[in-house]
Amino acid sequence: MVEYAMIIDGQKIMTQATVGVINPAIEEAFAQIPVGTPAHVDQAVAAARAAFPAWSALSYNDRKARLHQLADALEANMSELMQLVTQETGKPMKGFGDIGSGMEVGGAIAWLRVTAETELPVEVVQDDDEVRVEVHRKPIGVVGSITPWNWPLMIAIWHYAPALLAGNTVVGKPSEFTPATTLRFAEIANEILPPGVLNVVVGAGDVGAAIASHPDINKIAFTGSSSTGRSVMQAASGNLKRLTLELGGNDAGIVLPDVDPKEVAQKLFTVCFHNNGQTCQALKRLYVHADIYDEVCNEMGAIANSVKVGNGLEEDTDLGPLQNKKQLDIVCELAADARSAGAQFLTGGEAAAGPGYFFLPTVVTNITDGTRLVDEEQFGPIVPVIKYSDVDDAITRANNNPAGLGGSVWSRDVERATELAARLESGSVWVNAHADIQPNAPMGGMKQSGIGCEFGYWGLAENTDIQTVKIRKS
Ligand code: ADP
Repeated sequence: MVEYAMIIDGQKIMTQATVGVINPAIEEAFAQIPVGTPAHVDQAVAAARAAFPAWSALSYNDRKARLHQLADALEANMSELMQLVTQETGKPMKGFGDIGSGMEVGGAIAWLRVTAETELPVEVVQDDDEVRVEVHRKPIGVVGSITPWNWPLMIAIWHYAPALLAGNTVVGKPSEFTPATTLRFAEIANEILPPGVLNVVVGAGDVGAAIASHPDINKIAFTGSSSTGRSVMQAASGNLKRLTLELGGNDAGIVLPDVDPKEVAQKLFTVCFHNNGQTCQALKRLYVHADIYDEVCNEMGAIANSVKVGNGLEEDTDLGPLQNKKQLDIVCELAADARSAGAQFLTGGEAAAGPGYFFLPTVVTNITDGTRLVDEEQFGPIVPVIKYSDVDDAITRANNNPAGLGGSVWSRDVERATELAARLESGSVWVNAHADIQPNAPMGGMKQSGIGCEFGYWGLAENTDIQTVKIRKS
């Protein structure tokens, strides 16, 4: 069986004991990886620290060129990486709305290229006869990256690319559920980067905690659940690490009565079932006006019944399995709770016969706030559709949640929708779209969905410390 090693100081590191990486569509291992430990974190941090002076001393253009080389290498290995992503996450190669492994690897390439072209110019605050005041951006040191299982390659690139461009070195840890693609990427990257600049270790929460608390790591980029984010923040306090936390969401979408129900239902389905609902910014609570409620729900139900759920390696699969059993159990529990609260299931509502962690795409109506499926993040292929008649009330309900990642308003009246969207308490809002992120615009969470942001100048700057330079001319 194929093996993927950790990469520490440019070396491949295997351990005598290995762990299987499970394909969630068949519940069988397709690869073996080493057993990572906190001792490996220590080695990786030492290597990253040693590599930092030379890497940070390279010119910006040199580091930018390396990021483009990484993008070239991903392009050259795209089909292998897509297959690996599908094997370890379960997502289809193409998938419904083209949200599959092709989007994941293609997105990783796009983010590398756009990040590479992002500048960190010196800003001049004052320049007169007496004084010149400049604001410089300096690399922080060693960045620890902890990534989740839903978009393993793309999110790793979101962390690594800006950290490296700014002049930091990196110790990364992928999710224990999806380590293979990240390890393969690290192997490819080590042909391009000097030893120690990018190290990738593996392991579960104990290895993540060793990164979060490590005294010689200076910043943590973390993407995952809000509860683990809190642990990371606590562990990072020892040496006051800088933090970028991208945490859970419970994104609301508000649909006004002036839309074409059939047309909007197709778009809504795509963003609700984005990566089978396993995307932080998937649309997770839908508020639809009473005038078009039945039509929109029925249309979404018809699409849910028509999509093909199956093994992502089969070409015509629209939606794959949940990535892991724990997530399938959460979705089953929320569905059971909604059913007992009297909600109506237009489609699905249950796990499919195994093997594989499959849950049928599910549209739930006759449900409202106060039900777990609405109030909590389901992170799966089940969407609650809530009826409203007063849009101010819908906005209040959308905001009445600790999460604040994304939100959207859907209407033909773009101006009005834009005004309403601005009232949503979330780090990103969209009009007639959702989860529509791009590498040059910042993405971050309000409230308990995170701290700081990623992407563009703003995300890149989070990988730096500010140095103010004040020069008295006389
Ligand atoms: P999930 O529960 O969906 O797997 P998590 O937020 O727990 O989501 O996982 C995201 C990442 O955080 C994974 O790489 C995981 O191994 C890591 N992790 C889990 N627990 C901790 C912890 N206490 N400290 C640091 N990282 C952790």
